[in-house]
Amino acid sequence: MVRQSEVRDGELTVDMPPARDAGLVFIGRIRTPWTSRLETPRQGRHDGPVCRLEIFEPWVPAIKGVDFYSNLEVIYWLHLSRRDLVLQSPKNNGKTRGAFSLRSPVRPNPIATSIVKLVGIEGNVILVRGLDCLDETPLLDVKPDRCEFTPLAPPQAGDFETE
Ligand code: SAM
Repeated sequence: MVRQSEVRDGELTVDMPPARDAGLVFIGRIRTPWTSRLETPRQGRHDGPVCRLEIFEPWVPAIKGVDFYSNLEVIYWLHLSRRDLVLQSPKNNGKTRGAFSLRSPVRPNPIATSIVKLVGIEGNVILVRGLDCLDETPLLDVKPDRCEFTPLAPPQAGDFETE
């Protein structure tokens, strides 16, 4: 299942343990043009529509410096996903793959990531292209793309370990 919440031929669900979601806090919400999972892109495109990362207080000051980077990694919570499907049939043809071998939204912890293009910043809103989530999807984190980021803190011992 990756379209709505159906279970397809050959797929396997498991009994979920009670959710204890590691004390995550949503730092904002994502505004996109998509209101149906059937229309949302499977992966975002850098020439896709501009989407808005609306950052909530008290985290708005954390936007400072984001505009130094042209690419950001956005981490978000696919809140409508089912979480119990360990074998999935993406093509709905009875052939299955494990959830950890897919970028399916259906996973024990429905965390999604995208590398997006920074378009601009307007107050508490970061404008980006490259997302693939429903309007109102909860936002977990924003970081510089690791390819652009060099640690600002001084090096430490582990940085030089090779074995
Ligand atoms: N780019 C991310 C990744 O690779 O981790 C997410 C990819 S996932 C395949 C994108 C799909 O998740 C969309 O096409 C849509 O079907 C589904 N989706 C988007 N927003 C969702 C939400 N808030 N809750 C549940 N499913 C969602």
